Parts: sequence; C-alpha cells; structure tokens
Amino acid sequence: LKFLRNKRKMGAETTKHSPLHILFFPFMGHGHMIPMIDMAKLFASKGVKITILTTPLNAPVILKTIEKSKTHSNINIQTIKFPSVEVGLPDGCENFDLIPSPESVPLFFKGTELLQEGFEQQLSLLHPNCVVSDGFFTWTTDSTAKFNIPRIVFYGVSFFSTCATECVRLYKPYENVSSDSESFVIPSLPGEIKMTRTQVADYIKDVDWLERLTKFRESEEKSYGVVFNSFYELEKDYADYVRKVIGRRAWHIGPLSLCNIDKEQKKYRGKEASIDEHEWQKWLDTKEPNSVVYVSFGSVVNFPDSILKEIALGLEASGQSFIWVVRKSKKDGEEWLPEGFEKRIEGKGLIIRGWAPQVSILEHEAIGAFMTHCGWNSTLEGVTAGVPFITWPVFAEQFYNQRLVVDVLKTGVPVGVKRWCPFVNMDDSIKWDTVEKTVRKILAKDEEAEERRKKAKEWSKLSRKAVEEGGSSDLDLDAFIAEFGSLRG
Ligand code: UDP
Repeated sequence: LKFLRNKRKMGAETTKHSPLHILFFPFMGHGHMIPMIDMAKLFASKGVKITILTTPLNAPVILKTIEKSKTHSNINIQTIKFPSVEVGLPDGCENFDLIPSPESVPLFFKGTELLQEGFEQQLSLLHPNCVVSDGFFTWTTDSTAKFNIPRIVFYGVSFFSTCATECVRLYKPYENVSSDSESFVIPSLPGEIKMTRTQVADYIKDVDWLERLTKFRESEEKSYGVVFNSFYELEKDYADYVRKVIGRRAWHIGPLSLCNIDKEQKKYRGKEASIDEHEWQKWLDTKEPNSVVYVSFGSVVNFPDSILKEIALGLEASGQSFIWVVRKSKKDGEEWLPEGFEKRIEGKGLIIRGWAPQVSILEHEAIGAFMTHCGWNSTLEGVTAGVPFITWPVFAEQFYNQRLVVDVLKTGVPVGVKRWCPFVNMDDSIKWDTVEKTVRKILAKDEEAEERRKKAKEWSKLSRKAVEEGGSSDLDLDAFIAEFGSLRG
C-alpha cells in the first residue's frame, strides 16, 4: 500500500515537470464556493499549484479564507468581470446570496453564462493541466475542450443524491402513485429508499430545473470525471453505483471542511461571522454536553415570516437550549419574531442574525443536534461533528440527503416536510408543535436517541479517518493528482 501511495504521490512532484497546475472555478454562491476553496487548499497542501478564478467582488472573501491556510503561497486568485448590470441585476450582485428577489435567479444564471469569454481568455493565458469547475458552469466542458484541458465537474452533492436523481429521472416512479401521500420506492437505487411525489415531482416538473438538469448531465457526460465532497465509508453502495452503474470516473476526497484545522481557518470560511467568537463560545460553555440544538438552513433558504414564527414558537415550547441562525438583520424588521420572544428565551436561546461560524459551533461538545435543510455541506459538517439531525429539506437535492441521513446513516429525525419548493409558496405545513416534538425527540435520553448519538459519533470517527494519511479520501486525492500528473506526459 505504501509503495502504491508513494508512486501516486509522484504525480505532483515529478522533477522533470513544474508542479501540477489546477484551475478551480467555483459558482458564486457560498454553498458552492466554500467546499471548492477547501478543495483548492487541500490540493495546495499536496504541492499542487492552484489558481482560483472568480469575480472581483468574491475575490476578497476567498483571499481572506486562503490567507489563513499554511499553503497559501501555492494559491493564486484571478478575476473575471461579472456582467451584473448587463443582465439586469443590481451593480455588484455577484453572489447568489445577493440576488434581490426570486425572479432575479434566472438573470444570475444568465450572467454566469456570459463569463465564458473571460474564462477562455484565462485558459489561454494560464494553460492549467486540469480544470475543476462547478457543475452549474456546463459550458466549461466545451471551453476546456478547445484548449485540450481535461475538465472535472464539482457539484458539491452526495453520491447518494446523484444516484437517486438519476434513478428518478430514468424510471419516473412518481408516475405510478395515485396520490401525493402515497410513497414509492426509488427503483434500482440500493436500500429500498422511499419518497413521495411532491418531494420529487415538483423538482421534475420545474421547467427551469429540468432544463438545467439536462444540461448538467450532457456536459458531465462529456467531461473527464466528477469529484465528490464525500468519503467512501459514508456512502459505499452509492459511490460504487456512480462509478459502476452510472459509469462516471469519480473521486471522493472529503469531508473537505476537515482541511481547516485551526480555529482561524474555520472562522473565515465563507463570510465573516456576525457574532463574536467569545460570545457564542462563552454561551455554549455554560451548557451541558449534547444539550443544545443548532438551527440553520444554509446560505440560500429564505423562509417567510410565517415559517420563522412557527420555528420560534416550537423552539421555545421545547424548553431546550438552541442557537438559531436567521438570515436577517435588524434592518429587515423583526416581524418574524413572536412578541417578547427574545426576552422570554434569554439564557435558553441565542439568535445569530446573518452568518454563523457553523463548523466551529457544530464542533462544540454542547451541541446535541443540528436542525438543517440538508444542504450537502451542512449535512457533511454535521456528520464530521458527530451530531444527530433534525431534517427540514426545502429544495435542490435536499430531500434525497434527508433520506440518506434518516434511512442509511440512521442519525436523523425528519420534521416531516412534504413538498419540494425553491423560493416562493414554500411548504408551510410544519407547525410549532411538530417543531417542539421533534426537538424533544432528538435531544431525549431514551434508547432510540442514544442509538442515533452513538451512530453519529461512529460516522464522525470514520470521516476523520478518511482524510488522514492513507485514509480512503487521502488515497483518492493522491490518485487524482497522480492521474493528472501522468496525463501531462
Ligand atoms: N454556512 C456558514 N454559516 C452560516 C450559513 C452557512 O458557515 O450562517 C456555511 C455552512 O457551514 C456550509 C455552507 O455555508 O458550508 C452552506 O452550504 P450547504 O450545502 O449546507 O447549503 P446551501 O447554502 O448551499 O443551501
């Protein structure tokens, strides 16, 4: 094994070549940028020369993140102009979380397509050995082909959801049920996974999504391969399925968040935190181990006030301690807060308005559960932190991730969301009493809850092992580097 590893490592270090050079091109949304920047740092730590391509407004955020990394001297940032005004977006709207309204989402995607010319200019200037670009940038397959550079796709999703999406697309099991509540088993997918049609059918019916999914697939099929932020032990059957049944050349090199070893690195992932480190830490230090629920729905989900109110009332009624991240500032108004809420929950609950240092908080021993929308980064961060989940999926591939957590990893309790919905007219069927019940259930001391806790700790251990030297992800990372090293001739 050692011999193999050394041989593989030679890819990045061969003396007759300059170091392997990889260009990373992340989609400008935090859920996409964060893991790709982590990935860039990880490759840099193996001696690979890195260029990260982004737009001017996103560059300082990335710079701040990589400055904290020991191998930042291997990483360069290049920028290309994002045509926000040209496509009808406000000036400076260069990140998905700055989009002013759901109607502007297609404009943002249009803007990304106009990056092609700038991207190709960079390719002709830099001539990297390989490009890792976001799955949303489907046109990068054609651009890289023009320059004879292999393109690797990164979506930042799980193997599980990749398989489930493909099986649902191919076999259309939602057509064989007669009601929204009747469940079906996803055909061909290992593990008897059950869903209902409103959890997938809207996904399939949504014309924009459907068109995008088709483009993703076509572009992916023409690419060299796909890189996954996951580890083999977590999703063995599904990793095998992606490689053997779907037929993708794939690498698993995660959990990527684990490349941030010290406090400072964790602190600067994504945006600057809206809360002082001492404040949340001091607060959590006063709590018992496994007693606090951390509530966050990622960087995109924007719940309407009505849903936020139910969450607030449910958390309060549960009587449990919580940290709740709400994507609002005081400027947005406080209509979402029940009257007198903050006074009543003083000492019991901490609300973070804006951006939380999620990975650091999750790793605190007082955190006993994570109420999440099941974005893949959050899910994996919860896995590495070893916490059980309350799953509250909203859109994208989140309903599939919910099934992975609940049915395969056995570390989650679903809150019970019934309908996939991206931005408007969200499923508001979850009321405060369900929130209360689910929070109590996940933090309970009974056998079932203890079993979930035990499993969560086991997954966490495995995740850390995977990235250690000689672990499954470390080996695949070396294999990736060796393959592209040898492709250079
Ligand atoms: N995140 C964070 N603080 C926040 C909200 C999100 O650090 O207040 C990070 C989180 O740790 C994760 C990413 O943003 O790495 C969100 O990605 P995910 O795939 O979970 O969801 P998305 O935002 O893409 O829906």
